[in-house]
Amino acid sequence: MRYLPVFLDLQTGPVVLTGSGELALAKLRVLLAAGARIRWYATSPAHDAHGLEPAQLARIDFAKGDPLAVDLSGVVAVFCAGAGDVGIAMALRAKALGLPVNVMDDIAHSTFIFPAIVDRGDVVVAIGTGGTSPVVARRLREKIESLLPARIGELAKFIGRFRKAIHARIPEASQRRRFWERVIDGPIGALVLSGHRDDAEAALKKIADPAAYAGGEGRVTIVGAGPGDPDLLTIKALRALQDADIVFHDELVSSEILDRIRRDATRVPVGRRAGKPGIGQDAINRLLIEAARSGKRVVRLKGGDAFVFGRGGEEVEALRSARVAYTIVPGITAALGAGADFEIPLTYRDQARRITFVTAHQAEDTASIDWSTLNDPQATLVVYMGLTSAPTVREGLLAAGRSPETPAGVFARVTRGDAKAAVGTLDQLPALVEQVQGGPAILIIGDVVAHSAAWNREPRRRQNVPSLISHLLEAAE
Ligand code: SAH
Repeated sequence: MRYLPVFLDLQTGPVVLTGSGELALAKLRVLLAAGARIRWYATSPAHDAHGLEPAQLARIDFAKGDPLAVDLSGVVAVFCAGAGDVGIAMALRAKALGLPVNVMDDIAHSTFIFPAIVDRGDVVVAIGTGGTSPVVARRLREKIESLLPARIGELAKFIGRFRKAIHARIPEASQRRRFWERVIDGPIGALVLSGHRDDAEAALKKIADPAAYAGGEGRVTIVGAGPGDPDLLTIKALRALQDADIVFHDELVSSEILDRIRRDATRVPVGRRAGKPGIGQDAINRLLIEAARSGKRVVRLKGGDAFVFGRGGEEVEALRSARVAYTIVPGITAALGAGADFEIPLTYRDQARRITFVTAHQAEDTASIDWSTLNDPQATLVVYMGLTSAPTVREGLLAAGRSPETPAGVFARVTRGDAKAAVGTLDQLPALVEQVQGGPAILIIGDVVAHSAAWNREPRRRQNVPSLISHLLEAAE
């Protein structure tokens, strides 16, 4: 982020606009919409304000004289549009005086830039691209426009009118937030959004006990965060993250996903870090239960899916026996992420009719696996946490009679920007591990690997990470 979006209060003083023509007129309209009083210096002989209403014209001071010489004290900001060299000179002057200045289409002379704006009264969305691509900003604006209810500004104003009164009746901040969320998401919000403000007001005033209306019940949502790409969060997962008071997360959860958590929510890392032990499952269970009992909306956020080598089962049992309410939101497990990312069909007609997920983290894990059940040539084997035990996995499968020529691959950091694959044969598995340069990674063994993009040297269709293609080509060589 190079530019900080802020909202300028244009009631605090006049703004100066320098310039003429359509460009100046366009700026005038935006400034008028924001309630500005405008001192306008036209740089061509005429102040041409065609199409403006009398009420708008009343807020414009059609200034005469040289803008480069006039007194600028009390001015809130300076805008130049269609002003040519005068605009540049004006910008230098404004900068010298410490006044914010924008020269249209001229980042070098501006101290702030104009966002694309969605204007719904009190609700304003500003979209910036750091001046790099107005087209991207406009496309985003269209999307946001279509997402926002038309009367969202009225809803904000409605809440604004009652905020003080409710503040006095619910002193506790998080309970107050819950109260307003219930209002916004419930029938009262719906009334405002459908244009029935008076009915909404009556309904709000009918709430005898706002604190009770806010509801004090805590609950835990166990959320699968998927393999890393934040766009692979489910809508339910996103909603839970935006709704949370506190989030207990694993180390595996990517920072882009953590960025989607509601800003004011408390974040508590509870996972194992490389080398360092975590706080332990019992301690995690206790934290979840305590937080829910104190009335918080708790999210337990885990990589992939909570029920695939995620110890979600133990947490659910602990919550169940503590009689704490919970919900489970599934996530995309690493195997499915790898499948989509590297085009590995995990099943394939007549070739792969069975998928087995195993974990091979510790020596004990690998020792306890009955490899003889995994020698079926029609089975796809996915090994989680298997980077260090790849040699044992290879030995076990070979001893069980699986062909050393069986296609095999190591798929690291799948769905992330730095994803990498190395494919070859079961016999080469330990060497393939070396090629991906670190985890998290899964091993996939079975004929399906020969259908992958990596195996076929085909660059993936989704080529948003150019370096990945070269990794794939390297890997396939
Ligand atoms: N619950 C998770 C698995 C947790 S066990 C899930 O459903 O995916 C941790 C192991 O998952 C890692 O050691 C690795 O084998 C695998 N894993 C997790 N994220 C991964 C990713 N982005 N790419 C490759 N493997 C991943």
